[in-house]
Amino acid sequence: MRFYKILFVVVISVVMASCVTSPTGRRQLMLVSEQQAISESALAYVQVMEPLEQQGKLNRNPSLNRRVKRITERLVHEAVRLRPDTADWQWSIRIIESPETINAWCMAGGKMALYTGLIDQIQPTNDELAQVIGHEIAHALANHTAEKMSVALAGSLGVLAISIISDKPGSAAAASVAATLAVTLPNSRTAEREADEIGMRLAASAGYDPSAAATLWQKMGSVGGNGPPQFLSTHPSSQKRQQTLRAMEARMIGYYQPGIHHPRYPIDL
Ligand SMILES: [Zn+2]
Repeated sequence: MRFYKILFVVVISVVMASCVTSPTGRRQLMLVSEQQAISESALAYVQVMEPLEQQGKLNRNPSLNRRVKRITERLVHEAVRLRPDTADWQWSIRIIESPETINAWCMAGGKMALYTGLIDQIQPTNDELAQVIGHEIAHALANHTAEKMSVALAGSLGVLAISIISDKPGSAAAASVAATLAVTLPNSRTAEREADEIGMRLAASAGYDPSAAATLWQKMGSVGGNGPPQFLSTHPSSQKRQQTLRAMEARMIGYYQPGIHHPRYPIDL
């Protein structure tokens, strides 16, 4: 019993010491440093993509790949302008062949995925696709992935969390699992609002119409078939989201310059 008491105190102290502040001033639980999240995510990304590559499940359609690459490179250019240290990230995006999956994600360190279901079923315009990818990049820029990894670790057991931060053997595997798990966990409403705001700003300054955010979410909400899109379960929406997006839109107009030349940041696709 005494052991558990001590363990409890240790876990609580670790958790309290691990709270940091997000870009919008919110307290975040951080058991994993952003650097750890980035290196574990790089490993997890390979583990996810390698089997898909072998099974021929990575989309190779030249025009879709060109389109996604062009949009992502413009967004990443803006992301690096906003957070210059992310120039060190190994930015990349893969398009996963999965017609029934309406989803996209970005791991810590800029490792992204987009599912063909989102393209086929949502039929996004370039402006709307830029909102999806911009929103995902925003989650990574605001360190939400490391935050979700921390939640995954804390939820599994305090002991595991301690083994991770104390760097004991076996912790790397656990952290890599947590990195994969992190993209399947829902973001908090607050994290969603942060990602909406940062994502819309990235898209606007990359030359994509801010009004596309509201139409994108509308399309996401009204898509029929096999239940709601996976995207909505990992990106929970509030009833007020449309309203909030419209209000943000007005603030984003200042960043939006359609038609001018927008530089691109070369990424791996
Ligand atoms: Zn989100």
